[in-house]
Amino acid sequence: MKEGWEAVIGMEIHAQLATETKIFCGCATSFGHDPNSNTCPVCLGLPGALPVLNEMVVEYGAKAALALGLNINETSVFSRKNYFYPDLPKGYQISQYDKPFSSDGQLTIMTSERDESGRAVDWRPLTIHIIRMHLEEDAGKNVHEGLPETDKYSYIDLNRAGTPLGEIVTAPDFRSSWQAYDYVNHVRRVLQWVGASDADMEKGNLRCEANVSVRKIGQEEFNNKVELKNLNSVRFMQKAIEYEIERQIAAHEAGEGVAQETRLWDEKNNRTRVMRSKEDAHDYRYFPEPDLQPLVVTPEFIAQMKAEMPELPDAMRDRFIETYGLSFADASLIVGDKALAEYYEKTAQASGNPRTSANFILSELLRELNNSGKTAAASPVPAENLAALIKTLDAGKINNNQAKEVLVEMFASGRSAAEVISAKGFEQISDPAAIAAIIDEVINGNPNQVNAYRGGNDKLFGFFVGQVMKASQGKANPKIVNELLKSKL
Ligand code: ZN
Ligand code: MN
Repeated sequence: MKEGWEAVIGMEIHAQLATETKIFCGCATSFGHDPNSNTCPVCLGLPGALPVLNEMVVEYGAKAALALGLNINETSVFSRKNYFYPDLPKGYQISQYDKPFSSDGQLTIMTSERDESGRAVDWRPLTIHIIRMHLEEDAGKNVHEGLPETDKYSYIDLNRAGTPLGEIVTAPDFRSSWQAYDYVNHVRRVLQWVGASDADMEKGNLRCEANVSVRKIGQEEFNNKVELKNLNSVRFMQKAIEYEIERQIAAHEAGEGVAQETRLWDEKNNRTRVMRSKEDAHDYRYFPEPDLQPLVVTPEFIAQMKAEMPELPDAMRDRFIETYGLSFADASLIVGDKALAEYYEKTAQASGNPRTSANFILSELLRELNNSGKTAAASPVPAENLAALIKTLDAGKINNNQAKEVLVEMFASGRSAAEVISAKGFEQISDPAAIAAIIDEVINGNPNQVNAYRGGNDKLFGFFVGQVMKASQGKANPKIVNELLKSKL
């Protein structure tokens, strides 16, 4: 960013809550069905149809709120947000306005700027204020077909109308595009982690908007902000914010000023462009939804939701660093996926070697998982089997390279470590009696060398080691061979 300027960024995320049915009716929320097949009089907005709140929305909403450090309000109120658009059958959206479901959250995320190659350079904590997360219904979808100059058709698919959303709004606490990027990824991960949302941007069940302005460092008041919409991925969002920061600084410096407007990210040309100006701003004429009671949650319900919360990824990362001596980078990678984190902890405990467990999982296992397009949850090598392999390695029965080769074969075949080791003939001979028998044979078979060694030719020791290894087909444990040879010679 140009010296002397700072960016001021606030984020709005719409996350689809993971319910099987819609927020106010029993229609399925599933993705990819025939247009308008998952609809009923309630979500079509037919006269006389009445909404009934889906209890699971409250449960997932509570878990999302707790995962984001928000306070759940005992009473919240649904309101009608009035506007006209073809995908909104009732002419209003049931949302929440002055009394949201949850509010006033403190959230600490890890964030870093990136170098030219996109690598994080300096991870550090950033605490931001989340103003609110309210509950609301989604609208339907307009589908446009055909070229403007030929016949053009527009369709409306109301399968998505009435899908439950949590709208998460932050204070303007971000100062760079990468902070906003790390925030969205943090939110996605914790929502998935607690099961509140699939948070899959490709399927549109996590959508984000950024409010961006710039000001001179030291200036207190905000300049006009631009709302960035239709950001289809976290990376596009970061690029759009970065572009917007530079554009606005240049406009201020040229004395042109910045118009308060909504802009889109133009992926083809790598720039933002105007979608609508402030003059189109809506007056939503909010008023309480008369067909729904205020939503009251009891302290017991909130306590129960808290009790059901899993350990969150950042807490787990810190515990792995503390308990298992992992580096920040390794622990962060491991908690990148909940199933992987659980897999790691099982392996570390069963093998008694947390360090080697992390090494094998992050290099060998992740490579095999990536190559086969599998997730840790579907690993053909269960954690117990990997732990058994690490124990065999630690006992000196196989070496590190053999262990890696064995793991690849375990992954491909689903067989246990012991089975693969014996099939490959990697099992070392560590039984002192068996090794002693081989040594006796070698000593008896080479009387001249024995005499020379005993006469002071120390260099011959290597010859005996070589003969014993050869006689055991390379399987004798070298440490035991050395010890026994010394005593017998
Ligand atoms: Zn319905
Ligand atoms: Mn909304």
